Amino acid sequence: ERLVGASADHEEQAVEAALRPKDLGEFIGQEKVREQLDLVLRAARARGATADHVLLSGAPGLGKTTLSMIIAAEMEAPIRITSGPAIQHAGDLAAILSSLQEGEVLFLDEIHRMSRPAEEMLYMAMEDFRVDVIVGKGPGATAIPLELPPFTLVGATTRAGLLPPPLRDRFGFTAHMEFYEPAELERVIHRSANLLDVEIDPAGAAEIAGRSRGTPRIANRLLRRVRDYAQVKADGFVTREIAGAALAVYEVDSRGLDRLDRGVLEALIKLFGGGPVGLSTLAVAVGEERETVEEVAEPFLVREGLLARTPRGRVATPAAWAHFGLTPPRPSTG
Ligand code: ATP
Repeated sequence: ERLVGASADHEEQAVEAALRPKDLGEFIGQEKVREQLDLVLRAARARGATADHVLLSGAPGLGKTTLSMIIAAEMEAPIRITSGPAIQHAGDLAAILSSLQEGEVLFLDEIHRMSRPAEEMLYMAMEDFRVDVIVGKGPGATAIPLELPPFTLVGATTRAGLLPPPLRDRFGFTAHMEFYEPAELERVIHRSANLLDVEIDPAGAAEIAGRSRGTPRIANRLLRRVRDYAQVKADGFVTREIAGAALAVYEVDSRGLDRLDRGVLEALIKLFGGGPVGLSTLAVAVGEERETVEEVAEPFLVREGLLARTPRGRVATPAAWAHFGLTPPRPSTG
């Protein structure tokens, strides 16, 4: 498991639960999303109605689950949490939908990974609060209509573009979540440090924020590792020096690159003069699978402007050279 990976396993999710903001006021950053959602929820409350269905799109660890819980809390409604891959058959979905209470929030993570028949059942449920349950098989099969209580669906996806348009169109409100600015992550870190009883100064928080890849989940995770180091190696107080030394132990550098990321860039620069070089060749040079380089390392390197994918292969950008204190060679004119 990577220290700078954006996903969380079950164990980590349990640790995270204690750090979740409970209402919109506590939720840091995402100003536009917060403002818009605040209006949607206030209006629904004023009408005494169930809130419109909400689609949240954005990378893992940016707070989609947290926001869905906040929506439920703000509506004083219960919440049910499930995910697309958990719904294999339309019947699975029918069972969940028919057991919802009036006004309940249904959080459907990875909604783009639901099966096709379930997806089609969801269209009708979202629009008319009704599903047709098919009983029996073959020519004798009958559709039994089932009324549902009004509910709010909160769907989450890494990319809204992955959703079929008929599904996307049934959401009353779509929020796109962006990566966080360093200043916002500093606030996340101060808030979490407070909840975890960790003493930290502003420079210490800034040091961790700069290495957190724009992602609150990673910021919280790095904070926990820095806390361990500060307790064992110092008096528990987190300063810039302590944070830097702790994250050096875990090989997370000043920009949040880990060993894998640096390995890819270093191979590109030192073995191939900065590229272009094909993905397979690069993967062999790093000693990793193609998929690992392409899916695990590259997205962040591309996002950071350190690596470019060109038709002729992978290229290290001037920023990548600079990150290692090197100067790219002048392009040859021959
Ligand atoms: P996934 O897609 O992997 O389910 P997610 O987008 O649902 O991720 P969350 O589980 O909501 O992410 O958030 C991860 C962690 O980051 C949680 O501990 C949460 O408290 C924290 N966090 C996320 N967003 C914020 C925020 N805006 N302010 C403070 N903490 C946040």
